[in-house]
Amino acid sequence: MSKITPLMSQYLSLKEKHKENILFFRLGDFYEMFYDDALLVSKELNLTLTSRDRSSPSDERTPMCGIPHHSSEAYIARLIAKGYKVAICEQTELPGQTRGLVRREVTQVITPGTVMSASMLDETVNNYICAVYMDTEGAGLCFCDVSTGRTLAASVKSGPDEPDVSARDRLYGELCRFSPRETVLSDGAYNDGALTAYLRDELRALTERGGEWRFSFQGALERVTAQFGLGRDELSRSGADDAAVMAIGGLLSYLLETQMSGLTHIRQLEIYHPGKCLALDSTARRNLEITSSSVTGEKSGSLLGVLDCTKTSMGARLMRDWLVSPLYDTSAINSRLDAVAELVSSHMQRGEIRSALKSVSDMQRSAGRLAHGSGNCRDMVSLSQSASVIPSIKLLTAVFSSAELKQLEKELDNLSDLRELVDSSVMDQPPLTTREGGIIRAGYNTEVDRLRDILTNARGHISALETKLRDETGIKTLKVRYNKVFGYYIEVSAAQSASVPDTFIRKQTLVNCERYINQPLKELESEILGAQERVTALEFELFCELREKLSLMFDRVHASAGALARLDVLCALAESAHRNGYARPSVDMSDVIEIIDGRHPVVEKMLKDSLFVPNDTSIDTAGSRVAIITGPNMAGKSTYMRQVALIVLMAQVGSFVPARGARVGLVDRIFTRIGASDDLTSGKSTFMVEMTEVADILRGATRRSLLILDEIGRGTSTFDGMAIARAVLEYAGDPKTLGARTFFSTHYHELTELEHSLEGVVNYNVSVKKRGDDIIFLRKIVRGGADESYGIEVAKLAGLPDGVIERARLILDELESGAAAVPLSVTQIDERFSANVHAKAASAVNTPSHAAIEVLNKLRAVSLDTITPIEAMILLNDLKNRAASNEGTENG
Ligand code: ADP
Repeated sequence: MSKITPLMSQYLSLKEKHKENILFFRLGDFYEMFYDDALLVSKELNLTLTSRDRSSPSDERTPMCGIPHHSSEAYIARLIAKGYKVAICEQTELPGQTRGLVRREVTQVITPGTVMSASMLDETVNNYICAVYMDTEGAGLCFCDVSTGRTLAASVKSGPDEPDVSARDRLYGELCRFSPRETVLSDGAYNDGALTAYLRDELRALTERGGEWRFSFQGALERVTAQFGLGRDELSRSGADDAAVMAIGGLLSYLLETQMSGLTHIRQLEIYHPGKCLALDSTARRNLEITSSSVTGEKSGSLLGVLDCTKTSMGARLMRDWLVSPLYDTSAINSRLDAVAELVSSHMQRGEIRSALKSVSDMQRSAGRLAHGSGNCRDMVSLSQSASVIPSIKLLTAVFSSAELKQLEKELDNLSDLRELVDSSVMDQPPLTTREGGIIRAGYNTEVDRLRDILTNARGHISALETKLRDETGIKTLKVRYNKVFGYYIEVSAAQSASVPDTFIRKQTLVNCERYINQPLKELESEILGAQERVTALEFELFCELREKLSLMFDRVHASAGALARLDVLCALAESAHRNGYARPSVDMSDVIEIIDGRHPVVEKMLKDSLFVPNDTSIDTAGSRVAIITGPNMAGKSTYMRQVALIVLMAQVGSFVPARGARVGLVDRIFTRIGASDDLTSGKSTFMVEMTEVADILRGATRRSLLILDEIGRGTSTFDGMAIARAVLEYAGDPKTLGARTFFSTHYHELTELEHSLEGVVNYNVSVKKRGDDIIFLRKIVRGGADESYGIEVAKLAGLPDGVIERARLILDELESGAAAVPLSVTQIDERFSANVHAKAASAVNTPSHAAIEVLNKLRAVSLDTITPIEAMILLNDLKNRAASNEGTENG
């Protein structure tokens, strides 16, 4: 084993403390990785793997791989995106400052949930990290978007407030709503297999075991108090119970450890109540394609894709937040609707506000970076440029009368002090770096001006000194010159050297001349040579000072930025309503959902060759609770049911809806069971996935929920499936068990009989017209059950070969002539089919021939009591001969 060099031993001791992270070890202009880190990074980023100590082949080679410092961000971003954590180790002293090894320290750990850099973040999505404290009573949750500093906390418990919703459902709902990229878990949470599986598999979040010490109550409370200035009483008054405090404290401790800074950018804590939102689990979010299309995974093709025409990235993030957190509070919803309505009708103002918003940059993240210490002058300039638009937006908003817009106008701060400060101090287009000068505006600081003046006028200053010295000494040929050995010096001819004053210090005697220096020249020289260094250092100092001054304004910046984001989203909702012909829904605490001419907001945009056919809906928790929808495949059943769910969701977001009119009695949760998908990663079959989802729905739904159940019970045999479908339907529809508003599409036409036997069930079908062998989809939802499945007609439309279609028709005829009371399982169909075929064959073949009749008659005439053995043998021989001759005639 080779002797370890001091450098490698420094590396190893740092790596020891960061075993979990990839250590980026700064060596000059590179970050180097060694050993396993090098192997991993070279593989993940496709980089060349080299090795140290190549010179001595006997040594064990140290795998190594390097990344240039100046382009490291892109590499780090790729590692973070793959879920790794990167510890950045910097040189914390300059090479010249020390004789031995330069000191190195880890200055920051970058993790998926704590990235700050704009290049590593999607500007339209919040990037949350979350801590979960869990015990037997419930859980505390704290979410933080480190890039903006926004921090929220809540606790979930099943209690008298919400007796119907279990703490676990609420916990999952909240986690899904924020979709954190990284989670820090208390032992209770980490050891909960279902929770960690949910986080990893469903939300694809990184899970960290936080360690119980992070979550201990006393320590957590102290951290929370130190960070937000809130004592225990204030915290509990604002609704933060012990579990929430432990979650906040746990998260703060993790952030302090990874950020290695004072977390100065994390300033506001919002304690919220999870019950104020309509809950959507990840299945509903996926099935309803709220933020991404289930086919492409992209925003386009989702509800967000249709509604989001925001102008700022802050607005885009908030729009996404609103869509995954529809409200469950009529007054808050109506307040948003009032604002949207006012903006819909104020066409001109809306246009002007939206065009002004185009100039607003991401103030939340700029302020976040500056407060965190990672921001630069461009962040300052963009804050100021954004602020410069606020007065005109404020003026445009001042004319509105809805409460939400009035409130928003009040929250808009012109930030004129911020603009004055930045505009007077920072250049218009400063560089990205803060340590190389060129950032402070002329006229802001006299010393910077003087130093810059020295730099630009170095020649002039030297010649001014030269003139001055000539005048003082009377030596007309005196010159100030420069060379690399002496720097600046005064040169006087040998003949004149007697006239030089005592203040000149002789440095060199040449044949014809003498060279001197004096104090003023040396001062000027060091000023010139040091001016560059001093001006850059001073500019950085001034930048830090500015940052300090600005940070005192950040609460106002965040308030204004938040108001601008809200205004942007409200305007975008109004714009979408206008462009797409949406109507204002009325939202109340009734139990009805009534929609006139409702449309699916996304499907209507996708149709190229046809128009979307609008449909009505009327459902409540009383007389028509459960809508059973039948109709052929492709008729539009799923589209219709999803459209109802999306209209409800949009209404509760505070958006206008794709309909001529709508009334929505608040829904507390939307559940969906749609489509069949094998969850191969978890090893569950289609049917198992389906049943698990149905179980979750029936366990979690309340009377106020909306259930969208698309074809329950298809993954098993017909009888099984129908039995389950019926039992689920009865359970969901019966007020004694649930009695929730339910849409249920099915191919089991037998279920439509429930309309007569189960109170609250109403049949609908999506109408089709049959023309010859073809069907035409009319897309209209009408009362009553469907008469046929039209499966073969749809299969024909899909392009199945003619032969297969004809054969299918034949088989269907067979089955239908069997007059089965209920649809048969596949095996039964086969059995019935082969039985039919055999029966037919038998009937065709065995029509008794003349010979057969003779044989039968002879047999009938025999008396077994009197026949002798010999006679029996003769008869048998005769019968056999007749049978043989009969066989011959048939085969021939
Ligand atoms: P089903 O669930 O009955 O099999 P879908 O709801 O999946 O049918 O609808 C099939 C297709 O029909 C949709 O992709 C859409 O293109 C079209 N469609 C559905 N509803 C409508 C409608 N109301 N107007 C126009 N086209 C529709």
